[in-house]
Amino acid sequence: MDNEKPGNFRPARDGFRWDGVAYQPYKQEGSAPFKDISRQVLFQEPSLGCELRYFEMDAAGYSTLERHEHEHAVMILRGHGTCMVGTEVRAVKPFDLVTIPAWTWHQFRATAGEPLGFLCMVNQQRDRPVLPTAEDLAAMKAVPAVAAFLQD
Ligand code: MN
Repeated sequence: MDNEKPGNFRPARDGFRWDGVAYQPYKQEGSAPFKDISRQVLFQEPSLGCELRYFEMDAAGYSTLERHEHEHAVMILRGHGTCMVGTEVRAVKPFDLVTIPAWTWHQFRATAGEPLGFLCMVNQQRDRPVLPTAEDLAAMKAVPAVAAFLQD
């Protein structure tokens, strides 16, 4: 990674990319708990203690189903999809805001045929995400809307 502080002005390019921002496609392995998602760290500011990232899933892609102590503040920027936060499952569209509280299971899924992109604000120092056990998944699926969301 480049440790040099970026310039104050970094214009947007076409296709949800920015000058001076590295595009990081996620490594994709057979057992990866995510699918077709990329990450760009837009701001990484120690004096603020936070980072602002842009994640984008290809059509039918999804983020990792996980939970952790740190919270997320999300704004949808592109496309349509579905988001699970705890026991709630909602359709999301550009400029919707989603808050993910501490220790709450969450996942984003892009609608088939359309990418889904969102800004995500997060603490710079944060704990590692935890993945669900078989027991956790069974408990989540006791909620019908969550079971329907997770079965795709
Ligand atoms: Mn997360």
